[in-house]
Amino acid sequence: MNNLESMLLRNREFAARHSAGGMLMLSLSRALPKVKAIVVGCADMRVDPAEVLGIKPGEAVVMRNIGGRITPGLLEQLGLLARIGEVAEAIPGGGGEFHLIVLQHTDCGITRLVNNRAMLAHYFETPEAALETKAIADPRAAVSIDVASLRAIPALPSEWILSGLVYDVATGLVEIVAPPAPVRAAIPPMRQAASLGSGRSYEKR
Ligand SMILES: [Zn+2]
Repeated sequence: MNNLESMLLRNREFAARHSAGGMLMLSLSRALPKVKAIVVGCADMRVDPAEVLGIKPGEAVVMRNIGGRITPGLLEQLGLLARIGEVAEAIPGGGGEFHLIVLQHTDCGITRLVNNRAMLAHYFETPEAALETKAIADPRAAVSIDVASLRAIPALPSEWILSGLVYDVATGLVEIVAPPAPVRAAIPPMRQAASLGSGRSYEKR
């Protein structure tokens, strides 16, 4: 049995177990109110939020990219996500406690790209001269920067609880770098989801 075949076997076991237990979530509209968090994390195979945070199926929307960074592309996806919620007529978390978590980690592959400035500048849609503001080589600084950039987005619901975590691959422990706090203290009316895409307005090179 090759690796794919063994994964497909595990899928059949998953399907049988979850189907028999009535655990399959057939309706997006009914699943959305039960979701508790959006986790932005790194694509690295060692840092799957389902593993390191024990996230169960349906509990969180997990968005993974290189570094777990807040890029214009990631913001665009957050905007699409908000629109999906609107079209499905469901509020993530059912209007209750809802977390937006930025989860980065030590020994991240993105730190190996510090000399690939053109690639990084394209990824962040920022001039190469501004890359220093992204703290590519320092996950603790990067998490703080990314949490601050999320906090500055007017379209994010004020009441969402925003936090920044760094997972240490050497210990398996997560450190709170940006403590959980509402996106904004005051609660202005929710803005149009489409305006989340405003991250695209970064000056292009
Ligand atoms: Zn990584």
